[in-house]
Amino acid sequence: MTTVEKNQTYTVMIDDLSHEGLGVAHIEGYPLFIENALPTEEVSVKAVKVGKKFGYGKVIERFNRNPERQEVADLDLLRSGIAPLSHMTYDYQLRFKQQQVEKVLKTIAKLPELPVLPTLGMKNPIEYRNKAQIPVQKVDNQLMTGFYRKNSHNLLPIENYLIQDPKIDQAIIAVRDILQRFNVKAYNERENTGFIRHIIIRRGHYSHEMMVILVTRTERFFKGIEIAEIIKAELPEVISVIQNINPEQTNVIMGREEKILYGKPTINDTLLGKTYQISSQSFYQVNTEQTERLYQTAIEFAELSKEDVVVDAYCGIGTIGLSFAEKVKHVYGVEIVPQAIEDAKVNAKTNNVENANYEIGKAEKIMSRWAREGIEPSVIFVDPPRKGLDEKFIEASVAVNPNKIIYISCNPATLARDLRRYEDLGYHAVKVQPVDLFPQTYHVESVTLLIKAV
Ligand code: SAH
Repeated sequence: MTTVEKNQTYTVMIDDLSHEGLGVAHIEGYPLFIENALPTEEVSVKAVKVGKKFGYGKVIERFNRNPERQEVADLDLLRSGIAPLSHMTYDYQLRFKQQQVEKVLKTIAKLPELPVLPTLGMKNPIEYRNKAQIPVQKVDNQLMTGFYRKNSHNLLPIENYLIQDPKIDQAIIAVRDILQRFNVKAYNERENTGFIRHIIIRRGHYSHEMMVILVTRTERFFKGIEIAEIIKAELPEVISVIQNINPEQTNVIMGREEKILYGKPTINDTLLGKTYQISSQSFYQVNTEQTERLYQTAIEFAELSKEDVVVDAYCGIGTIGLSFAEKVKHVYGVEIVPQAIEDAKVNAKTNNVENANYEIGKAEKIMSRWAREGIEPSVIFVDPPRKGLDEKFIEASVAVNPNKIIYISCNPATLARDLRRYEDLGYHAVKVQPVDLFPQTYHVESVTLLIKAV
């Protein structure tokens, strides 16, 4: 039982950071998680939520500041989770991420000796996102765009998102105002009524081609085509306006059905000098500059040669494998989203790659099939979503006996779990390189090299 009471104020010393970058203080062993608070800071804190095992506190007064503290441009960026680390200097953020990886390698993977290299950061760690998904609500009879307060669906109005391409920030406002002029109704979450749910914008980092996706609850879009044409007229970079229909009462942003309101179904962008087509439903890394660094690191770790047969698992639109296809004998890609595989096939053609094959399906299933068919990859790249690798995938990948596995991870906890499994099955992790794909946020991306133990 805790002695901490809701709405009481306590003077505490911050002694740790949670993986989400919240300050942690202990009151007689009971942890309180506190926004905008850094280790070594003494603060007066009000307990705003008190659970059995831990609680949340809000800073009332700060008595000293950690020298790594930096002024926050806009507190709503912390509160909304858009930029939850923006009160830390960038150097401190990079060390925080390296330590996050070290921590889970020790505790979850039981690999305390595995070297974690210093996080590769950006020169200018803001305005990097090439994609935004912005909820729309009605406030005082006006369409409002912004971001939800953490753990809630109360919209905070935001116009400068700090971490997004500023052209995207401007486009969100322009699109919102055009919708307003046409009196388009905002979606109402509680009642599942109204029309416009989200504005999604993608802008090619190098190409500057822009896609606007209007996520609507129902199909009939009064003056939709006219609206799309005005969007194009006001934002000349736009080459694609898509209506995505999502009738469900759900937190999932996009629905399945789509209509093209203007232009093409895809935009193009460049990565490491190659051109890629990107569909509305395909995954594409949001930080282009750092993705190039991430892939370069992965390619260096793999030390590829013309003899190598390579698997690119969770390949999305094929970007990893196509980056090095000319250096190897063959690339086999697998990905679950059909549109992404369509893109990958087009992308292979566009870049004159003839030694790549793509399959739609679950990586764990297709990998087992390849194993049965006798495909013998020498190197396997994996780049799974946050939940990490399926146990069946791990077993199938070991069964084909590759020399190396390159594990690109966006979640240190599942990376650590999977590295433990690989270690037990005879694959030894050699080094981990965190790459900061998400400055100002607590997300940690990394590349790990595993080699077959002899
Ligand atoms: N390698 C790509 C994509 C990485 S994101 C890139 O760098 O851009 C992870 C991808 O895995 C997504 O495209 C997602 O659609 C896909 N995915 C998720 N679960 C999967 C599964 N079980 N099998 C295959 N692909 C899956």
